Amino acid sequence: MFDCHVHSSFSGDSEMHPDDAISQAIHLGLQGIAFTDHLDIDYPDFDEKFLIDFKKYSQTMDDLKDKYSGKLKVLKGIEVGIQPHVVDETRKTVESYDFDMVIASVHIIDKMDPYTGKYFIGKSKNEAFIRYLECILDSVTLFHNFDVIGHIGYIRRYCNYDDRSLSYKDYGDLVDSILKTVISKGKGIEVNTSGFRPGSGLGTTIPEIDIIKRYKELGGEIICLGSDAHYPEHIALSFDKARDLLSTVGFRYITHFEKRKAVFDAI
Ligand SMILES: [Zn+2]
Ligand SMILES: [Zn+2]
Repeated sequence: MFDCHVHSSFSGDSEMHPDDAISQAIHLGLQGIAFTDHLDIDYPDFDEKFLIDFKKYSQTMDDLKDKYSGKLKVLKGIEVGIQPHVVDETRKTVESYDFDMVIASVHIIDKMDPYTGKYFIGKSKNEAFIRYLECILDSVTLFHNFDVIGHIGYIRRYCNYDDRSLSYKDYGDLVDSILKTVISKGKGIEVNTSGFRPGSGLGTTIPEIDIIKRYKELGGEIICLGSDAHYPEHIALSFDKARDLLSTVGFRYITHFEKRKAVFDAI
């Protein structure tokens, strides 16, 4: 299996040295990992620690590919945080380097960061989740240079509503619009396992299983697994469980990306 969503110390919010991530991946018997460090242009309450020297990042990833060749496939990815006004600048960075894969994610909604809780103030769960999904729909409509949409349901991690599920039965229309756009563009979705981390309080994949089922029903084929690890102990967390879920839903392949091309690995 490939862990397609890992943050190294290049990201301001991770201190995991890439070699430590790779050692853990080898220890777990993975075939490969994709480092997907952050590009979040115009992050609110902007902090310089979120600026990455992508030239250095790219060179380091190339060196790691060589260093671990034959032991582990190291993939050069990027996770871009999409807001409507950063689409052009984000595209330019993505096009400037030979990335293996690009995850497009929504981290910021109407210039507010759900991580800090600010976004949820004064909003019912429905209001907060609908606006979040509208932003994902905007991002998949406006932005083209990605391979998968990251963690649909990310805001569940940071809200404190009694019920923190974002399921198909409640948000079907918007979820359908997102999934149909993704499929029509020949792109895919990520199944993020951070919801299985002890203490997350979620206990599910992100997105939830009924959304993954719907993606399959609509003809979606491209699906990858990502742990969103910022620490070695989170790499490939609960991947066996996630793979079994995908198999139950009817997927026969899990995807990883090399040089922006989907590679299908049999389950
Ligand atoms: Zn993310
Ligand atoms: Zn991430």
